[in-house]
Amino acid sequence: MENTKIPYKIYLDESEIPTQWYNLRADMKNKPAPLLNPGTHEPLKAEELYPIFCEDLVAQELNVTDPYIDIPEEIQRFYKMYRPSPLIRAYFLEKALDTPAKIYYKFEGNNTSGSHKLNSAIAQAYYAKKQGLKGVTTETGAGQWGTALSMACSYFGLDCKVYMVKVSYEQKPFRREVMKTYGAEVTPSPSVTTEIGKKILEEFPGTTGSLGCAISEAVEVATKSEGYRYVLGSVLNQVLLHQSVIGLESKKALDKYGVKPDLIIGCAGGGSNLGGLIAPFAGEKFRGENDYRIIAVEPASCPSFTRGKYVYDFCDTGMVCPLAKMYTLGSGFIPSANHAGGLRYHGMNPALSQLYHDGLIEARAVEQNSVFEAAEQFARVEGILPAPESSHAIRVAIDDALKCKETGGEKTILFGLTGTGYFDMTAYEKFNDGVMTDYIPTDEDLKKGFDGIPRFEGNEI
Ligand SMILES: *Cc1c(COP(=O)(O)O)cnc(C)c1O
Repeated sequence: MENTKIPYKIYLDESEIPTQWYNLRADMKNKPAPLLNPGTHEPLKAEELYPIFCEDLVAQELNVTDPYIDIPEEIQRFYKMYRPSPLIRAYFLEKALDTPAKIYYKFEGNNTSGSHKLNSAIAQAYYAKKQGLKGVTTETGAGQWGTALSMACSYFGLDCKVYMVKVSYEQKPFRREVMKTYGAEVTPSPSVTTEIGKKILEEFPGTTGSLGCAISEAVEVATKSEGYRYVLGSVLNQVLLHQSVIGLESKKALDKYGVKPDLIIGCAGGGSNLGGLIAPFAGEKFRGENDYRIIAVEPASCPSFTRGKYVYDFCDTGMVCPLAKMYTLGSGFIPSANHAGGLRYHGMNPALSQLYHDGLIEARAVEQNSVFEAAEQFARVEGILPAPESSHAIRVAIDDALKCKETGGEKTILFGLTGTGYFDMTAYEKFNDGVMTDYIPTDEDLKKGFDGIPRFEGNEI
């Protein structure tokens, strides 16, 4: 089909929003390894997760067989408030790069949370409400997840307690206030409101916090408070499931114009947007119907895929969550304080980890100055100020589009533009002032994190 016939924005109709999520694990030949009980190292049973997570979400977490799961009507209705999200042909960027590559991006920043996180937040809040709970607790790093969850909880009239990584709490006061506007209670982590927080503060008095630590605090509060459960905005398989709306919509939009991407690129923190974006495409790949190259992009300062170990590890610093087999830098790993670009979680979703291990997806690590260069270049021609996280994907999309120019290949690239960067201006300021630094952890830095990985039979490092 002729290029010129493809509009700048491919919008789907409201009626084309998916009514079922797609569960990528159902079509994986090698399933992700099961979660383990941290005490016994035995595969976890659903009931063991009930004190932490909502029951319906536990079922989704453990479901590796059903390819499609119905999206409850109330969630479908909420999705209509801000979905379908546009699939944009990056004509301006292609022109600026003077590349024969055709570039598409799926833009998830068109809601107040400024990211794709709302897709899962509304689902998790829905199941909490359905179970008759009073509220939920969570952690947030950059703040997008906390914001999304606050919005979802206010919609269902649920209490929302957010533990926000201290460095973000201080650097992003506006995010904090958005959450409060939606009625959430926001606490900088580590805090003295939990046992684990107190312990971490004693051990590391000046710490700026980490996601793993904020998770531990949120889990502690959830398990100690009647009528509360813990919810998580990334990493878990259930979150990838909810995020499959991104990929399903993208595929539907591309199919309308007969476009098949050769290369699909997503940034990877815990893996939820990437897992969601690739889901239907990866399904075709697993079933042998089509082939796609898939690249996960991570920060060089938090390189879980490219330098991590594929072993069982704790999902949190407090070592209370189940053990997950994943690419990990160790739950004690804290990225350099200079790292401004988000994507700072130590591990990676177990299903994506298995795919990477099996060579079905690739990964690249990029440095933050080059990420912000890509962000700036993109913002100036495409008109959207991207989130630093999303800009990791932009970096690699630009690099590959430029490679096409050398080789003359007319590749079609699809990448996920997960959100906007309006609350990340402290990071942009550093970049604009030329004081942003790149820090790549040394092997010695990484070893400290690896030393904290639990050792047991079958889990050698
Ligand atoms: C949270 C977030 C990410 C990273 O999380 P994943 O679970 O890896 O998708 C990426 N981009 C934005 C804008 C985010 O808010």
